[in-house]
Amino acid sequence: MSGRERSDGSSKRRVAYIYSPEYIETCDTLSKVPNRASMVHSLIEAYGLLQHMSVVKPRAATMEEMAMFHTDSYLQHLHKISQDGDNDDPQSADFGLGYDCPVVEGIFDYAAAVGGATLTAAECLLDQKCEVAINWAGGWHHAKKDEASGFCYINDAVLGILKLREKYERVLYVDVDLHHGDGVEEAFSFTSKVMTVSLHKFSPGFFPGTGDLRDTGLGKGRWYAVNVPLEDGIQDDRYFQVFTSVMQEVRSQFNPEAVLMQLGADTMAGDPMCSFNMTPVGVAQCLQHVLQWQLPALLLGGGGYNMANTARCWTFLTASVLGKTLSSEIPDHEFFTEYGPDYSLEISPSCRPDRNDSKHLERVISTIKGMFHSIPVYLIKLFKNSTAGGKAGFSVKGNPD
Ligand SMILES: [Zn+2]
Repeated sequence: MSGRERSDGSSKRRVAYIYSPEYIETCDTLSKVPNRASMVHSLIEAYGLLQHMSVVKPRAATMEEMAMFHTDSYLQHLHKISQDGDNDDPQSADFGLGYDCPVVEGIFDYAAAVGGATLTAAECLLDQKCEVAINWAGGWHHAKKDEASGFCYINDAVLGILKLREKYERVLYVDVDLHHGDGVEEAFSFTSKVMTVSLHKFSPGFFPGTGDLRDTGLGKGRWYAVNVPLEDGIQDDRYFQVFTSVMQEVRSQFNPEAVLMQLGADTMAGDPMCSFNMTPVGVAQCLQHVLQWQLPALLLGGGGYNMANTARCWTFLTASVLGKTLSSEIPDHEFFTEYGPDYSLEISPSCRPDRNDSKHLERVISTIKGMFHSIPVYLIKLFKNSTAGGKAGFSVKGNPD
């Protein structure tokens, strides 16, 4: 699908923005990011960006739709404890509910709302109502089929990919959140129809602890998971360099028909995670690199624990998708006082050192390129033997199953 051409020759994308007051109110209740959904939406609205997008009201996901990925026992338990916000149910720990994923009243409705919003976004793309669909309150990439994890109760990214797969043969997942997109990688680790790419901090003791360079998928999905482990302090330029090197390979090898991108903003300078040192400009460059492929694109949020910086980032990205330039001065609106002391849209990198040495980054890039181009023959043989006629990675690229 290509964007419509304007008379000045530039491409004008049709963008669907998933929003309703009720949806934002529901998402505001999430205890780890209180009021974040409102702050993000208010800033996008204050900059006058809504008039350039189709604002689409989301629907809630049904139990059956959530069960496309999650187990019945997990969903039934979430539903049960959601009635009265019971935090003491002895079964909850088995489902990852508790410390990192506290139970609050209505948590099931929250999960159904987020899942439904990402499904609504995917449907806009399937129906060709837009080229880009945005759900900033989605992107909960850690949730497993039977377990809440890392503030994520439902994996709306997985549900969105499954919906896109109803029409598109090969769907690419790109995750630029600070954390490894483990839930999405795991969900599709055995298939060659979905390639997952995650750039993330990878360091002993850092959540979720997965996403090693050597983790490349399993069975038929081997070589269809790409992990880019990074160290603290990376800034826009080098991140973009790594991103483009990896994505050029990914695109030429996988040839995706649609893309789902998780744009978690916990990589921003000033985030309490205090790890990467990015600004919205760098993330927008990465996003534009993907959007210029002119494939149907579903954009999700994710992490982002400095609320003002997260709103700055996703507002800047929304403007970037629309080809709009925004004033540096934060417009007067409900949350204006949160943007002090400079009341500026820009985020300045901090002076923390970049712990990624060039040799490490070169090794990461060359390992990933090597994985695509020169998979050792003995590994392919080994793999073929171990899967009794199964397909070995890119040697069968032109003949997907
Ligand atoms: Zn994160």
